[in-house]
Amino acid sequence: MPEEQRIAVPTEFDPEDEYRPEPEPEPLPPSWMDGRVRIGIHTSIAGRYLNALESARKLGCNALQIFSASPRMWQGGPARIPEVDAAAFQARREELRLGPLVVHANYLINLAAVQPMLRTRSVQAFHDEIVRAVALGADFLVVHPGARGEGSTGQAISTIVDSLKQATKRVPMGGLKILIENTSGMGTAIGSRLEEVAEILAGLLRDLPSGACLDTAHLFAAGYDIKSENGLASTIEQIDSTVGLENVPVFHANDSKVPLGGRVDRHEHIGKGKIGREAFERILRHPRLNSPAGEGLAGRAFLAETPIDDPGDDRRNVAMLWELAGLKEQAPEAEKGFSMLTPALKKKISAQRAQSSRRIAKKTVRSKMSRRKGSARKKGR
Ligand SMILES: [Zn+2]
Ligand SMILES: [Zn+2]
Repeated sequence: MPEEQRIAVPTEFDPEDEYRPEPEPEPLPPSWMDGRVRIGIHTSIAGRYLNALESARKLGCNALQIFSASPRMWQGGPARIPEVDAAAFQARREELRLGPLVVHANYLINLAAVQPMLRTRSVQAFHDEIVRAVALGADFLVVHPGARGEGSTGQAISTIVDSLKQATKRVPMGGLKILIENTSGMGTAIGSRLEEVAEILAGLLRDLPSGACLDTAHLFAAGYDIKSENGLASTIEQIDSTVGLENVPVFHANDSKVPLGGRVDRHEHIGKGKIGREAFERILRHPRLNSPAGEGLAGRAFLAETPIDDPGDDRRNVAMLWELAGLKEQAPEAEKGFSMLTPALKKKISAQRAQSSRRIAKKTVRSKMSRRKGSARKKGR
């Protein structure tokens, strides 16, 4: 700048010169959120994490759910995922544009536990679940609320909220949201009433990114009549007035082996259970639940957790969801004949089942015999 100009520069404050930080750029929506309906199934990580992605692709899914470790053991593998594996998983998922990625937490976790050892264990295990889910780049982590045991529902709910806050303390959540799943109301399980799920969410809202995952089989078993047209309408109303439909980014799409209000958790193939094909068509096409036009939540997912009794059941259930949603042409192509259950694996599983049922049978015979001996002794007295 020439000398004379510099002198001429006014010294008074010009509001235009005030420092204004650039607004934070809005985070880009993930590549899978392309406005299309998301349909998938729970896939297995057996072998390595990448296998789940390949299975989802071969089954004709554009979304998936996984466990990040064995779901029925406290120590079901390493607590942390090696960085290279996580990076490879994230890269492949991006390539396949699969999403959302939902991780289902371990079944042993009881965030409502009163017993201190179990409570500590549950909080620690859930903490590890979060760390693994974040490492894999998951969008959602689904957890069952827990069982109240002898305690009251109110007590259990505040314990659950406390446990969740403890487990997430000082953990970078990335883009991960925690979803509380509704339950079928077996035993003393919390979460069979939508009000209970809503109460947990209300306790978390300010501290933690959270929402709900609603399972159709659990809704039905808990007494929400999603089978009939009126029942579905009133259930949607109840969802709206409790958790809020906008807080439900994931539905577990499962048919039920038990009738309405049966309060037992038994999943059935889509269309073959007590909810039935017609009802699933209504659910999957409902403008408030699934609207590609944008009325529904962008990227809402419907994920099956249906049994695989025979090779191909997994592929057929995914295809059925696409068909009943009226989106057969949009469905990614499945690999002909692919199933997570191969005939060889089926053989191995049934051999294991036969062996364990023989063991159980032996045990019952033994205990029956000892009981008979006992009663004979009593009679002899
Ligand atoms: Zn679940
Ligand atoms: Zn279930």
